[in-house]
Amino acid sequence: HSKAAGRNTYAIFGSHMDELLQKRRRLEDDLREAVASGIQIQTFYQPVFSLDDGKVASFEALARWMHPRQGFISPEIFIPLAEEMGLIHEVGTLVLRDVCKLLFELPAIRVAINVSVLELSSPGYALRVIGTLAASHIDPNRLEIELTESLPVDKDGHFINNVASLRAAGVSFAIDDFGTGYASFSRVQTIDADRIKIDKSFVDDMDKADNKAIVMAIISMARAKGLKITAEGVETEAQRAALQKLGCDDLQGFLLSRPLSEAAVHLLVKGPERRAVAV
Ligand code: C2E
Ligand code: MG
Ligand code: MG
Ligand code: MG
Repeated sequence: HSKAAGRNTYAIFGSHMDELLQKRRRLEDDLREAVASGIQIQTFYQPVFSLDDGKVASFEALARWMHPRQGFISPEIFIPLAEEMGLIHEVGTLVLRDVCKLLFELPAIRVAINVSVLELSSPGYALRVIGTLAASHIDPNRLEIELTESLPVDKDGHFINNVASLRAAGVSFAIDDFGTGYASFSRVQTIDADRIKIDKSFVDDMDKADNKAIVMAIISMARAKGLKITAEGVETEAQRAALQKLGCDDLQGFLLSRPLSEAAVHLLVKGPERRAVAV
């Protein structure tokens, strides 16, 4: 009877696989359509606050997919999908277009974008970004590129050439999710980064002695290398106080602000009060 059970298991497993594959194919079709239409992919902006004066130092652009039937789909899901499908370049172009519009409309702000290693490894990427900025008359100093630590995929030197061109034009670089990835400080050196963003996972358990020690070590090493330091995912007042004491430059997290729509950014920047308020 074990044979029969095996066959049943296989049949159930098989149909489950079919279902998953169909779901995945439908999501791929939908993403293709979303990227082609442009309007389903939207950009939100999370304020980053300076610990010097409590004011907004910059914004991080975060892509959102408003799916017509399923509602909001997280970038944790659709960005890796776009990378696998080769659509990440188009997603990046849509976000950069939104960001340039905002930078043009609000001349006092700086914005950071998240860029996939695949984009930075594609020939001509730097020239396309520099061209887009120039077309909107935007100073490249107002743009920062956040790069998640990952294995360098640079057989032909495109990655390094793109980074060098962007840096030469004035674009700055940050290492995102710092501490979670591959060869942290060697990565900083390869791209000559200006900033690290300490990953939320370290900020989360700052009240534990071990994690506090890790954050302290990261900060003192970053300081020694002349890097700016942002802490990500700050959710509590205790975390804010501890990070301030340890000497972070900037803080980002739900304690200070959630990611905002473009309209909300306009209100925040043009409004009278730009200081950090816990909400
Ligand atoms: P990330 O670059 O590390 O962005 C920070 C993420 O943490 C964002 O999630 C943000 O909403 C979330 N976050 C900020 N503060 C808090 C907090 O206090 N608590 C919690 N629980 N979360 C917080 P989001 O928007 O879902 O983005 C996830 C990731 O997707 C990003 O991580 C980034 O790696 C990627 N991503 C987002 N937009 C883009 C894009 O335009 N291009 C590329 N290539 N990747 C993107
Ligand atoms: Mg980021
Ligand atoms: Mg991050
Ligand atoms: Mg992340």
